[in-house]
Amino acid sequence: MGTPTLAVWKLASCDGCQLTLLDCEDELLALTSRVHIAHFLEASSATEPGPYDVSIVEGSVTTEADRRRVLRIRAGSRLLVTIGACATAGGIQALRNLADVDEFRSVVYARPEFVSTLDTSTPVSDHVAVDYELHGCPIDRDQLLNLLGALLAGRRPDLPAHSVCFE
Ligand code: SF4
Repeated sequence: MGTPTLAVWKLASCDGCQLTLLDCEDELLALTSRVHIAHFLEASSATEPGPYDVSIVEGSVTTEADRRRVLRIRAGSRLLVTIGACATAGGIQALRNLADVDEFRSVVYARPEFVSTLDTSTPVSDHVAVDYELHGCPIDRDQLLNLLGALLAGRRPDLPAHSVCFE
């Protein structure tokens, strides 16, 4: 088996969960010797086409473009992991689900007609199958390293039950 490939994706989010991965520094360096990071725009503009062994997705689905993107990510990934409250539950932006999005849009933007958005912010699992979820805002770095280490070694992650779903 060749070196496994990892891709990190962002939908609607604040980048805080991706920063948790970047903050791992030493562990991330160790990780890069065992995995080929093919797409991680927060760390490098270099990007390579899939398929990927593991895709990590931060952020919720708030636009039609997000929805199409997450379908493509799923189709190109052997394992899909969602990280953080945005990706696993819709995040703070899901407050819109209880309100009138058009009203929000007209209050916030000077030219609301140029802003295209869905009426709801939804978790990735509402749209595609998800293999693992890490909860938190932001996620816990040890849980993330545990998960990545296990997946790259081909074993089951040892995580609290509430952090692992859809197996
Ligand atoms: Fe940011 Fe929290 Fe969303 Fe992570 S879950 S991207 S820290 S808002």
